[in-house]
Amino acid sequence: MSGETGPTATDAAPITLGELAAVPVTRLKGVGERKAEGLAIVGVENVLDLLTYYPRRYVDRTKEARIRDLVVGEEALVLVTVQRVSSRRTRGRPPKVLVTVEVTDGSGQLRVSFFNQAWRERQLRAGMTVALFGKLEIYAGRKQMTNPVVDLIGDRTGRIVPIYPQSEKAGLSTWEIGDWVAEALRRSQVRGLLDPVPDWVLDRFDLVTRAEAFAGIHAPDSMAHRDVARRRLVLDELLRVQLALVQRKRHIERTTLGIAHRVDGPLVDAFVARLPFDLTDDQRAAIDEIEHDLAAPHPMHRLLQGDVGSGKTVVAVSTLLVAVQGGYQGAFMAPTEVLAEQHAQGIRELLDGVEVPDDGATLFEARPVRVELLTNRVGAAERRRILAGMAAGQVDLVIGTHALIQEGVEFRNLGAVVIDEQHRFGVEQRATLRDKSTGAVPDVLVMTATPIPRTAAMTVYGDLDVTVIRSMPAGRQPITTRWVRTDAGEESMWDAVRSEVASGRQAYVVNPLIEESEKLEARSAQETYARLEAGELAGLRLGLLHGRLGTADKETTMQQFRGGRLDMLVATTVIEVGVDVPNATAMVILDADRFGIAQLHQLRGRVGRGSERSWCYLVSRSDSPEAEARLGALVETTDGFALAEVDLELRGEGTIMGERQKGRSDLKLASLRRDREWVERAREVAFAIVDGEGGLEAHADLLDEVALFLDEDDQEFLLKG
Ligand code: ADP
Ligand code: MG
Repeated sequence: MSGETGPTATDAAPITLGELAAVPVTRLKGVGERKAEGLAIVGVENVLDLLTYYPRRYVDRTKEARIRDLVVGEEALVLVTVQRVSSRRTRGRPPKVLVTVEVTDGSGQLRVSFFNQAWRERQLRAGMTVALFGKLEIYAGRKQMTNPVVDLIGDRTGRIVPIYPQSEKAGLSTWEIGDWVAEALRRSQVRGLLDPVPDWVLDRFDLVTRAEAFAGIHAPDSMAHRDVARRRLVLDELLRVQLALVQRKRHIERTTLGIAHRVDGPLVDAFVARLPFDLTDDQRAAIDEIEHDLAAPHPMHRLLQGDVGSGKTVVAVSTLLVAVQGGYQGAFMAPTEVLAEQHAQGIRELLDGVEVPDDGATLFEARPVRVELLTNRVGAAERRRILAGMAAGQVDLVIGTHALIQEGVEFRNLGAVVIDEQHRFGVEQRATLRDKSTGAVPDVLVMTATPIPRTAAMTVYGDLDVTVIRSMPAGRQPITTRWVRTDAGEESMWDAVRSEVASGRQAYVVNPLIEESEKLEARSAQETYARLEAGELAGLRLGLLHGRLGTADKETTMQQFRGGRLDMLVATTVIEVGVDVPNATAMVILDADRFGIAQLHQLRGRVGRGSERSWCYLVSRSDSPEAEARLGALVETTDGFALAEVDLELRGEGTIMGERQKGRSDLKLASLRRDREWVERAREVAFAIVDGEGGLEAHADLLDEVALFLDEDDQEFLLKG
């Protein structure tokens, strides 16, 4: 090395992110105690926090226009000097605060109006230079902008000015933050930033170095430069998450002893042969994939995604039967008692006539598969009998709710577990169930009818393998969805519903969702019931179903509906999942705009389950853009995966990530939506590294960095690698 670099640079190794995280912000010039407190409010305590406190926006001064050249109705950026600020209350009800600011850029004058932003009067003072982004209007013959985006850029030079998220409470300005970031970057140049991501990854995706990326995101030469920088940092974030997940997945596979199930036994074949229909290609593929896992000596940990009505139950039963045919037991866990009961009934029907060949216990005699239902509603004596049967290994399949993982429930040799509707079960409960086995860990299949976009699944369920059933069984009748928005529309909707009933079909009416109050929801269902019974649906046999009814009442009503002794069910969202009555062909959802896309889709899935054409009516007078987007999407398509993408688009990933992502909140730049392809690339790279020569441990710096961003619980998994 030449002597050009300073003496400290020659032998010191490049700086790691961990080292940056150990440097408090107070080491930076100009960060005293008060500023440090302000930074702490926005979550910045050390230099790493600061470098990953990314600009919220950039003012691109190459796009700057002169006031003289502005065109009415077009958005533009102008850089101006504030001349005068005044404020007053407008007349009218309610009164508004109007702040008026006169500005100039030498080429012309502009008046800027802010409505209900009284604080602008304090923010903007004569003599300040500000960037305004907005649309030119002409008002009373004068050039004007209303509520433009304002950035105080002070005397910043450079063509692209980063704008940092500011908070008044923290008392920090964007240029202060910019100065500290610049200082941090300058000082880290002495030793340089360590880049732990292997070169082949950077080459393959044409990524810049980490040092260039940090410089480019904070002080880009152009927006294209910023994009290149962002790409690199996005990969870093996603790669850390995926490395943690993949490492954990491999760790579980390596360290837990599973059961190598016998997949060529006669039971599954007998079951499939007796089905009154042929399996769909996707069902067959799912079963194959699962059997492959079951046969392997490590425990399966798989997510089965399939839209409502895609036929997941058959796949679940076949999974459990693989265990049974090898002499193990299977457990099926449902989110509610009603669903557990329904599944028990359905599974018993599916298994009618399927026999377990002589297994030694029954001297040359085949016996039926023994299926038991275990919920909290089972009486004490019955419960004892079932528990004894389970402990002795005589019960082949148990179907139940959380009750299955209670104290005192034991299996003799639990081999496979299916968990339906994962979103209602915690990760913890899943772990408990796995612990129910005394010896090897049972295989676990988690089923969900909530389609999750692939990239989100990769991140949220990154330690699970994913199987998707996309196609529907043949012969399904289409569901026509209509958005009913007028009185006349409602009238003809009720006519249509009555005529469905007249031709022997059944229907549901779902009541408006009332967040957080089962009681209010129940009352509203009662009111709807009374209104319809006396009005639009007079003379029809109506049933009422809501969460406040006793379980026996609920079951009676469901049975009457299933048996065709009720024409219609007026219900709350209790019918959202699992209810399966093929003769029901019409679904009316009142105040549909109150529901989310996923929920509407689930509700709609209650019809279209038989051989008749079905209808779904979304009743809503709302004309808000959100209602337009959501209800419009439902009318447009019945493909749950397409709807899930729309949902992700509308709501962002926050809701999907939820709890599960808490300890891994490293995603500051990356968006599961915008950066879809990078999620896949990061996952691919993570597998290559973890499964590569020496594993993640061979990349010590990378391993350290992954650990840096994880909370302690997750680290444990990681470091055990
Ligand atoms: P989900 O995926 O919503 O749990 P189910 O397993 O309840 O779907 O299946 C929905 C309906 O489709 C059931 O009545 C089931 O018997 C039927 N079904 C499942 N697979 C097929 C198939 N391959 N062909 C025809 N009908 C099927
Ligand atoms: Mg189901």
